[in-house]
Amino acid sequence: MSFGLAEKGLKKREEFRHFAENELDTGDQFPRDNLQKAAERGYLGYPIPEQWGGQGEDFLSYILLIEEISRICSSTGVITAVHTSVGTFPILYFGTDEQKKRYLPGLAQGKMLGAFALTEAGAGSDAAALTTTAVAVDGGYRLNGCKVFITSGGQADLYTVFATMDSKKGVKGITAFLVEKDSPGLIAGKPEKKMGLNRSNTTELRLEDLFVPMSSRLGQEGDGFAIAMSLLDGGRIGIAAQGLGLAGASIDYTIRYMKEQEEGGKTTEQGVSFALADLAARFEAARLLVYRAAAVKDAGERCSKEASMAKMFATDLAVDAATRCIDLCGLNASRQDNPLTRYFCDAKATQIYEGSNQIQRIVISRQLLK
Ligand SMILES: Cc1cc2nc3c(=O)[nH]c(=O)nc-3n(C[C@H](O)[C@H](O)[C@H](O)COP(=O)(O)OP(=O)(O)OC[C@H]3O[C@@H](n4cnc5c(N)ncnc54)[C@H](O)[C@@H]3O)c2cc1C
Repeated sequence: MSFGLAEKGLKKREEFRHFAENELDTGDQFPRDNLQKAAERGYLGYPIPEQWGGQGEDFLSYILLIEEISRICSSTGVITAVHTSVGTFPILYFGTDEQKKRYLPGLAQGKMLGAFALTEAGAGSDAAALTTTAVAVDGGYRLNGCKVFITSGGQADLYTVFATMDSKKGVKGITAFLVEKDSPGLIAGKPEKKMGLNRSNTTELRLEDLFVPMSSRLGQEGDGFAIAMSLLDGGRIGIAAQGLGLAGASIDYTIRYMKEQEEGGKTTEQGVSFALADLAARFEAARLLVYRAAAVKDAGERCSKEASMAKMFATDLAVDAATRCIDLCGLNASRQDNPLTRYFCDAKATQIYEGSNQIQRIVISRQLLK
């Protein structure tokens, strides 16, 4: 029996685990093959309504999918999460009928890849400080500026880009735009050499006099910041699931390693087994937080506090678990080709994006004190 997941969830997890373990690879290039295989099963539009080409599944099932994919290849996990929660949902929630018809079926069926371009060199946690500009011109807008650290940069087909039309208006001056990959003036930089998640192609995105037709504005002028913020709760639960996948992978690896050691006649020290017990208990607690946040979202209720708690707890655990498991497994685990090294390097970024874990603490404490 698994408290928190009904029979449907347990079956879904089994299906996703089978898929991830048998179909996904862990190479070092952008994981086109993994994404293609996910698309063939409808996994790139899992929570998108059937009407728009998706599977119409609940958010909790989608979260289980991200957890299981991330257990095997967390770059594929984050690309899928970004594509879905901040690449496709903006159009589902805020798009016009024309925008939905133009983009949703392609995104939901994985024929197009979605990305989200908010962050700038001087506007990360304080996204409202962005300086990319949008100026109204005949028939549309001209965008100028530079986004940084954009997941799937240069690989995505569609970017939701945020720009200010009037910096004096602060957040009320920000507007969202849908930008197609081949738009003249959209220039993706070289992939960043990151410490982890090396398959996820994180790049700068320059916008040089880029023309966006009126029909590609998402929402009304000035709605951009509210659109970005409204997507974050769902996005954060997705990253929490990525953290879960990584933490689970570290713990499972360490259990297997210790069993092999015992089978070889080595006794596990009590201190080592206690550390493993602590991690396993924290992992179960993290799962409950993450699934609860998804269930609150599925119920259509506000889930900011739950999403932030889940993201903070699960991604902090992902880093702690990898660190501790490397300690527990000793010398072998510190080799570069050991999976624990990859889990450790991949886990670090989960504490930073979709709002750093300091920002999650601000969200939680504000909710508690209001
Ligand atoms: C691998 C990766 C992929 C990413 N993908 C995307 C993407 O697809 N699209 C996108 O738009 N962005 C993306 N980002 C950017 C990411 O969202 C930002 O890195 C994040 O918001 C933090 O911004 P920053 O790095 O500029 O840090 P800063 O905001 O400069 O913060 C620096 C430090 O100060 C802390 N801090 C900041 N403000 C406060 C405060 N008020 N109180 C307490 N502490 C504070 C932060 O927690 C952090 O530790 C990605 C980042 C990474 C690493």
